[in-house]
Amino acid sequence: PGTARRHFIRQAIDADLAAGRFDSVCTRFPPEPNGYLHIGHAKSICLNFGLAQEFGGTCNLRFDDTNPIKEDTEYVDSIQDDVRWLGFEWDNLHFASDYFDQLYAWAEKLVLDGNAYVCDLTAEQTREYRGTLTEPGRDSPGRSNTPEENLDLLRRMKAGEFKDGEKTLRAKIDMAAPNINLRDPVMYRIANVSHHRTGDAWCIYPMYDWAHGQSDSIEKITFSICTLEFEHHRPLYDWYCDKLEIHHPRQIEFARLNITYTVMSKRKLLQLVRDKHVSGWDDPRMPTLVGLRRRGYTPESIRAFCADIGVAKFNSTIDVVRLENAVREHLNEVAPRRMAVLDPVKLTITNWDENDSAVEMMSAVNNPGDESAGSREIPFSGSLWIEREDFQEDAPKKFFRLKKGGAVRLRAGYIVDCHDVVKDADGTITEILCTYDPQTKSGQDTSGRKVKGTIHWVSCGHAAEVTVRNYDRLFTAENPDSTAEGKTFLDYLNPDSLSVTTAMVEPELATAAVGDRVQFERLGYYIVDTDSRPEALVFNRIVGLRDTWAK
Ligand code: ATP
Ligand code: MG
Ligand code: MG
Repeated sequence: PGTARRHFIRQAIDADLAAGRFDSVCTRFPPEPNGYLHIGHAKSICLNFGLAQEFGGTCNLRFDDTNPIKEDTEYVDSIQDDVRWLGFEWDNLHFASDYFDQLYAWAEKLVLDGNAYVCDLTAEQTREYRGTLTEPGRDSPGRSNTPEENLDLLRRMKAGEFKDGEKTLRAKIDMAAPNINLRDPVMYRIANVSHHRTGDAWCIYPMYDWAHGQSDSIEKITFSICTLEFEHHRPLYDWYCDKLEIHHPRQIEFARLNITYTVMSKRKLLQLVRDKHVSGWDDPRMPTLVGLRRRGYTPESIRAFCADIGVAKFNSTIDVVRLENAVREHLNEVAPRRMAVLDPVKLTITNWDENDSAVEMMSAVNNPGDESAGSREIPFSGSLWIEREDFQEDAPKKFFRLKKGGAVRLRAGYIVDCHDVVKDADGTITEILCTYDPQTKSGQDTSGRKVKGTIHWVSCGHAAEVTVRNYDRLFTAENPDSTAEGKTFLDYLNPDSLSVTTAMVEPELATAAVGDRVQFERLGYYIVDTDSRPEALVFNRIVGLRDTWAK
């Protein structure tokens, strides 16, 4: 906190506390339970919960559940899981639907004070009467009702006397206001649908602007932090609080997070799931928190990313490389190193002990950057798997891995010299023949030999076979949302975003548990996926060791 940069929201809070406008910092995170949370929500969560922590205040989790058509308890549960997984705990859990009675009572007050009226216009007429940026709106006939008429109509709306869309309750503000949000916005609409919490108790539901600020006020929120699109709603937020003479939070807007090579709108994410372009909300390619979590992202890395990108007042798009770097940096510190061969070819050591089951245990450090991570023993034998691409028969001079007539160090093992290869009828190499140099054991090398390359390997007789899912970006375009050339985001799906292989891994990994994260040396970071069974482990690639997309 002491070293945290004073971004404009911190400065606004500092100023309000100093001026005595508020004496505490109470924030909230207000998701609508109509989808799973994504990395954009993480920015808002880190900001709201982070500010509360920093200023010794409180942060609520409030479900903004005022639109029953799209909402579901599945989402309510997943959102709570996600917030906790990110590392935050709310002070209070609320539902905007718990405030329906209070909101309704306040609506009657606005009606009686002459500040709201019942309107008969259809949705289409309402839009038409609202006017445009250059033309003022026209009055709805309902605008001249008396408060008594409006009260009667509102009560009958609530009692279910009217059909969907037949009437609305509108705030009576100013049909000529330059800010169109102030041209008598709708407060209640009629919708004869069940709500996931209130059931059939209500057939009128509050609009976002009417519910949101009042919910903030009821909870005595001091700083209502929202995204930039709501800047033009702030005068309405303030109008409702002023007319009701209730606790008046300060709304502060910040730029929403956009990231390259992904889409972030819940509608589009839902479409990816429904149309089966991905396996579900938690598909490891999704920008949802359940997706990132399954991909192997750590909560720490997401929090670090959110802190790194900061908070600004103008919209921009963040390079996805920054997100990938955040998890790479964290896993570089904490992930144990293991050897895994994704595309195996056999390497036989021809001068190994006649008894070809002879095994020598090699000591390998678990994390060169963290001594406390210790080391492990890996079996080395005369029969090894190495990566097919680490061998070239006619290699260029600059190829420092294994070639015929060349030498390479086997990580944590010996230097081997290649003298021949075995091929099948098609000319594909099936076996690489080498001798090992007994003087070159890692850590005890007395040979004085220097070789340029080091490659990874696993012993054939000891390796465990696992499935590896190599994930890549879901979209090939930097901005899949761009509607250029009449395309939609689905036209930019990356056909190669998932490739599945069988890999040979060191025996230590045979007992890995779901959720374990490791670095496959020289390849990248991997996590044991939830699809794993004890004899059939599945590893997801979290991220490569370096950014291979960079040109
Ligand atoms: P969507 O476009 O996905 O429907 P939303 O804003 O309607 O997003 P909500 O559930 O209402 O989704 O969002 C809850 C909170 O998270 C809001 O305060 C919203 O401002 C914030 N939020 C949503 N998306 C982003 C984003 N991309 N960057 C930062 N904050 C976000
Ligand atoms: Mg919203
Ligand atoms: Mg939305």
